Amino acid sequence: MSPAHISRVNAAAPFLLTVLLTVLVTPSGCAAPLYNDGSSVSVGTHADGALRQAALLPLEGDGYVVSNPWRVRRSNYGTDELVGVVVRSMRLVSRRYPGGTAAVGDLSRRGGGASVEHRSHQSGRDVDIFYYATDRNDRPIRPGDVMLRFDTDGKAVRWSPAQGHRLPGQPVPPHRFDARRNWALIRILLTDSDAEVQWIFVRRPLIALLMREAVRVGEDPAVLARAAMLMHQPSDGDPHDDHMHVRFYCDPSDRSLGCVDRGPVRWWKKLWKYMAPPFGRASERSYDLADAFLRIMRTELPTLFFRRSLST
Ligand SMILES: [Zn+2]
Repeated sequence: MSPAHISRVNAAAPFLLTVLLTVLVTPSGCAAPLYNDGSSVSVGTHADGALRQAALLPLEGDGYVVSNPWRVRRSNYGTDELVGVVVRSMRLVSRRYPGGTAAVGDLSRRGGGASVEHRSHQSGRDVDIFYYATDRNDRPIRPGDVMLRFDTDGKAVRWSPAQGHRLPGQPVPPHRFDARRNWALIRILLTDSDAEVQWIFVRRPLIALLMREAVRVGEDPAVLARAAMLMHQPSDGDPHDDHMHVRFYCDPSDRSLGCVDRGPVRWWKKLWKYMAPPFGRASERSYDLADAFLRIMRTELPTLFFRRSLST
């Protein structure tokens, strides 16, 4: 054996040893770990699914917190994409409007699957986010251990404790739905470059407050039209007056591994940049809201039909 040959063998030895050990110590089989890139996989649908190699959402982060009653459920796991977009969007809202803290509820359990609290949330692509709220002086409140239910005008009217927890003894404080931060969050979610929103479940009158805020801040008509289409009060009983539920599409890389999207398939990201204004990312802002809405209606009619029977 020539010296050159020996040195090549020596260089390859650590790699071969690692492969051998990986195969030997893995109980689930031989070759599988070699094909595993370590990223998460959402399997099945939102209501009948599982989650492989889940990403953990830290219980506290920049601009958000997981409230105590939800921490013990250990449902703060999601796909890499879901956890990424939650962390990013909360941080961005807190930078845009300092002082506010979002409260995050359930994502999925570590391996996904059914839970007593939800019909969905099974495959790491759903997240509950409590609405941002302000006090009587328009200052953001730090969320406590109980959610608040908001009436049609955005006024807090009732407590909404976590399942299995009691109503607080004290009266409901004079808090209000914080349309500014809630809209900021929604527009950030809708324009995230790494995760694509399928639905945002919100009580209908609160959708109106959000749309009004979006118009007030001069929102891009394409984002407005899209928000109008994707925000929806589901028909299964839970009015979503205390939290928004955001569902994301399967990540494209998960689709071939068993992830299934139910409902209308849009997959905007693939189309977005090729579409004519107002959908495409045109720098020109000469289009108007009515035009954007008409165009979106033309492509989204199946969504409208589907919404009638939509449940969480
Ligand atoms: Zn939910």
